[in-house]
Formats: sequence, C-alpha cells, structure tokens
Amino acid sequence: MVDIIDTHCHLDFAIFDKDRDQVINNAKRNGVCKLIIPGVRGATWLALRSLVSSHHCLHYALGLHPYFIDEHRLQDLVLLKDLLINRRGAVAIGEIGLDFFDKSLDRAKQISMFSQQLDLAAEFQLPVILHVRKAHDDVLKLLGSHKYGGIVHGFSGGIDIAKRYLNLGFKLGFGGMTSYPHSRKLHDLVRKLPLDGIVLETDAPDMSGYKYRGQRNSPEFLPIYLDAIADLRPENLQRIAEQTCRNTIDVLALETFLTN
Ligand SMILES: [Zn+2]
Repeated sequence: MVDIIDTHCHLDFAIFDKDRDQVINNAKRNGVCKLIIPGVRGATWLALRSLVSSHHCLHYALGLHPYFIDEHRLQDLVLLKDLLINRRGAVAIGEIGLDFFDKSLDRAKQISMFSQQLDLAAEFQLPVILHVRKAHDDVLKLLGSHKYGGIVHGFSGGIDIAKRYLNLGFKLGFGGMTSYPHSRKLHDLVRKLPLDGIVLETDAPDMSGYKYRGQRNSPEFLPIYLDAIADLRPENLQRIAEQTCRNTIDVLALETFLTN
C-alpha cells in the first residue's frame, strides 16, 4: 500500500454526518494519509476548523464557493480575514473561483467575491484552491501574477490552459473522472502533463468514479483513482503516489504543519 493525499474532499458536508469517523478510518486504512477539506460557506467555517482539529490527518482551507454565491455576504469576507489573522492551520484560501457553466449564478458578484478573496490570498501569502467551470480565461486574468500558487481542482480544460496554470505555479487535481473509460480528452491530458503538475483528489461526495457512479464519492476510493491515473502514465503507481504527495506538500506548504 502506498501513501496518498486527497487534496479535495468535503468531509464536513452533512452527507458524512452518520459515518464520518468510519470514512476517515477507512481512508487511512487505504493509504490516504492526509485529506484537505476546502471551506465553501462562511456559516460552516468554524465547524470545519473544529472537525480538522480533532483529526491529525485532516487539513482545511477557508473560502466562499461560487456555487453558493447568493448566500455570501460582505461580512463573510470580514470573518474570513479575522480567521486568517488568527490563523490556526488554514493551508489555503478555497474553494473559490468562477462558475460560468451554471447561468443562474450571478457573474458580477462571483467576480467581486473571487477577486476580494484573491487579494486576501496575496495579503496572507496563501495558495488558493480553485473551482473553475467555463471560466478559465477570466480566472487566469484575475489571477494575474498571483505568486503563491494553488490547485485547480477537478481540472478538465485543454493542455494550453493547463500549461498557463502550471506556469503560475499551480497543480491540477484529478480523481474519479479519470476512471471513466470514455473520458478520452481527459485521459489524453493526464498522459501529456508533467508529473510534477498533478495532484490527486476525490471531490467527495461529488464526482464519483466509474465504479461508484450514482453513489456518494468518498476519500476511501482514492486508491482506485490513482490506479486509473497510473494506467495512463508511463511512471509506476508508487512513483505517481510519491510525486503527487510531494506536489501537494510543496504547493500547500504542508511541511509547516507536518512538524507540529
Ligand atoms: Zn469542492
């Protein structure tokens, strides 16, 4: 068994209330040594922080997800800044970004919330965990020369877009979608990318892999997604596990947290 890191799972969501500890234990037993939980709404940040403090293998990020754009208020940004000032272990600002796929989400408000969170990332010298749908050009423009890198989660763009993120110091997250036999475009991309640009993720409870389609996704399944990625790559599974862990530790500066 190899150690791997789930860089994106929403273990704080209510769907895990009944068996969260069990899921964490199963994930650990499957080699998932660390799990990163991004925050999505201001109302859930404190509970997220306390969840993470009770499990050594968990890390968290704080952010306002574009999907919940209607809920976000300016006070959330004030709270975000407060929590970052009293920073106890937030590894990044996230999950933030732009979702132009869902037309019901207010674009102007998304851009405003995203830019303000990018400003906080710059102020606190933190990486960002990005959600981007049909908005790569706008996101890249707003990132400008963001110096602290981050992760574009559930990446499904083309190789040219991928390279622009990699040049900015970002890693690209891949998981369950790579296990679908007909995801040719995605397979092609995963083959072409440099290994030091890739990190693993589940996005649990969403984006279940082929074997679990229609079911709740879980960090327990990450080894299966690693298998799918290894099938596409020239390197062996062990090498991919090691390098994706290294990439995650580097981009989220997890070393700082490993010692304490
Ligand atoms: Zn997410």
